[in-house]
Amino acid sequence: MSLGQIRNWVFDMDGTLTVAVHDFAAIRVALGIPPEDDILTHLAALPAEQAAAKHAWLLEHERDLAVASTAADGAVALVRELAGRGCRLGILTRNARELAHVTLEAIGLADCFPVEHILGRDEAAPKPSPDGLLKIADAWGVATSEMVMVGDYRFDLDCGRAAGTRTVLVNLPDNPWPELADWHAADCRALQGMLG
Ligand SMILES: [Mg+2]
Repeated sequence: MSLGQIRNWVFDMDGTLTVAVHDFAAIRVALGIPPEDDILTHLAALPAEQAAAKHAWLLEHERDLAVASTAADGAVALVRELAGRGCRLGILTRNARELAHVTLEAIGLADCFPVEHILGRDEAAPKPSPDGLLKIADAWGVATSEMVMVGDYRFDLDCGRAAGTRTVLVNLPDNPWPELADWHAADCRALQGMLG
């Protein structure tokens, strides 16, 4: 199957459709999370009250970033072309759904992603779990083999592999995970060029 034949597209958001701005090291310091720990996994293991307070801090911090988001190179044209071709479009993010919507509004793509097609950290187990992609496949009534997951990090690719979707790595000049990515594009403009 060529990329241009795929009708069901799921995107990571931060760093994929937007210019990456999260300083995860600074977030870990602010929340007292060890440098080697995954942020969401760490928070999930805390007592409920501590976890709630830290999630609230994270949401506020990420809200500021969401409002100020800028689109990644070529992202708006790519998504608009896919929408114009009648492709189904979804978002699977470790961010919160509400902030994903704020972000998509900021970059001018909110109309392309119906809110029920945006799964955030409260709607699905976070990537690299395949949970979110399996839920989207179910909602769309398609096989995961007919879907593609597009992202800028290995969690996006791991998630796609675990769910059985095709995978695309974008926004890195080289591909550090060739075994995990079916396609690699230096940015979304190059990816649009690969649609044919
Ligand atoms: Mg990302």
